[in-house]
Formats: sequence, C-alpha cells, structure tokens
Amino acid sequence: MLPFDFHSPVEPLHFPLFDEKQVRVDVKRDDLIHPFISGNKWRKLKHILHDAQEAGKNHLVTFGGAWSNHLLATACAGAKFGFSTTAFVRGEEVSNPVLSLCRIFGMELIFVSRSAYRAKETLFETHFGGNQQAYCIPEGGHSTAGAQGCSELLDELHHEYDHIWCACGTGTTLAGLAMGKLQKGLKAALHGVPVLASGDFLNDAIRGLYPSLPPSTVTLHTSYHFGGYAKSTAELLRFVQGFCAHTGILIEPVYTGKLCYALFDRIANDYFRPGDRILLLHTGGITGILGMHEQLAQHQNSTEKLF
Ligand SMILES: *Cc1c(COP(=O)(O)O)cnc(C)c1O
Repeated sequence: MLPFDFHSPVEPLHFPLFDEKQVRVDVKRDDLIHPFISGNKWRKLKHILHDAQEAGKNHLVTFGGAWSNHLLATACAGAKFGFSTTAFVRGEEVSNPVLSLCRIFGMELIFVSRSAYRAKETLFETHFGGNQQAYCIPEGGHSTAGAQGCSELLDELHHEYDHIWCACGTGTTLAGLAMGKLQKGLKAALHGVPVLASGDFLNDAIRGLYPSLPPSTVTLHTSYHFGGYAKSTAELLRFVQGFCAHTGILIEPVYTGKLCYALFDRIANDYFRPGDRILLLHTGGITGILGMHEQLAQHQNSTEKLF
C-alpha cells in the first residue's frame, strides 16, 4: 500500500437557516487531505496508483482541462510516490497557476486540440503504445478503482446520516458512495449536484461503473449548474464569498460552491424533515479559485443573506 493514509475530519456548520428548519449539517473536510492531492482526487488515485505500482509501471499518463484538479493531483502524487507523469491537456497552449504547479511537480504537458483530445485511446497509443512503463489513468480518475477509493470515506464516519451530498463532475465519487452504501447497508440517501449542464447523463456514467446498481440509489439535483462547467453568476459568487466569510472554510464556485448553494436552497424550500442529519462532502480542489479569485473578492461585503 502507498504510505499515505489520512482520515479527514468532520465538523458541524452553523447557520440560522439550519436552526430555523431544524436540520443538522456536518461537512467532511476532504479538502484537508492534502493541499495538491486534494479531496476526492486522492481518494480516486490511491487504488489506481497501487495498481500501477503492482503492474511495475513508473510513468503515469492522464488527461484533463487546463484547470484540472485531477492533473495537479496526479502531478503531485506522481512526484510523491516515484512516478514520472505526462498529461494531455485539452485545447491550445495556455499558462495558468494550476498548470505551472503541474510543471513544478515535474509533469510533462502535451497540449492537444479539442478534437484530438476526444480520442484519448488514440493519443495514448500514438505517444505511449510501445512504452512498457506507461500506465494510462482515465480523465478525472473515472474508473471502478477510483470509485472504490471514494466509497472508503464511508468507513470514516462516526454517525449515521439521513442524507449525504456531493458535487459531481464525472460521477465517480457519487458512484463509489452508492456502491459503498449498498455494501455497508447504510440508510443515508445519496444526492449529487452535477456541475455541468444536462447532468442527467450521470445516471449512465454511474451505471457504466456499476451496472448492478438499482436506479434509485442516487438523486441528482440537475438545476444547479449555473450555466455549465466553470460558469458562474453574481448570485453564486456572492453566496460562495458569504459562505467562506461565515465559516472560515474556503470553497470555490466550480464544485463545492454549487453543491453548497444547492443544499442551502433545498433546505430553505423544506426539502428535508425536521431532525434530519445531513453530511456535505467538501471535495477539495480549492486551487480552482486561482482562476477566479478577483471576481470572487469583488463580491465581498454583500448585504444579501445566505437564504
Ligand atoms: C474533480 C472534482 C469533483 C468531481 O468528482 P467526480 O468524481 O468526477 O464526480 C468534485 N469536486 C472537486 C473539488 C473536484 O476537483
């Protein structure tokens, strides 16, 4: 096993809205797992890296967009556990703080057009087909090994929750939680907030990983994408800034910001029963804030309440 094990802490959140609606909300701080191998990215990578090690590979190859938390996590984990790393980055060559961090951790970046990026297997075959050391990691860690790692966070909980909520990109984290819930016989209802538009595609993505999963195992709340991946509105930015200022917990508008907004909105609209105990998963990735820190800071001192 890789020499890295960390049980993230759980802490309660306090907002007048929660008292008014008589719900209890805890946040699982997966953002504290590691500054760069952050949140669900570490959970997804741990079995993948273990498999790569077992297979005797020493070079990780993966895929992502220019602000990908997965690329940064892979770059840092590769450096930490003795792998060299290469990433195919979607779109024309750009520079930003996340890609700089990837390079600092030694990752080789290959920028490819959006059409070439779609054919990931071809890219891997063309560049690394004959390379016995190369190990291919799917974009975002979307795999059963990745989902398995995410399911293990359920073993760290000290309470039974009525509801567990997480943000969804590829749906791997939610798929892992769903499988874990069934295996462990937990009662918690599982909720995903897709950060991309038309999030219903995640039902298929989750079934793709676990075909035997009963359809009703998870509930997707698909109307909180704010226009699509990495899109935001003044309302979302105000909410995120207010949340950070009220709690001292940094969230960003791409994933956890949308998740928290959705949860607060559902609470305000009496989605839950009085007495319900809710767990919110902070999946980390706060380096994403480096792409929008000025926008976010501009929404400071908003007089609007958090619902
Ligand atoms: C990648 C990422 C997600 C999405 O996780 P999936 O398993 O792909 O659904 C959620 N939150 C953060 C912070 C991420 O970086």
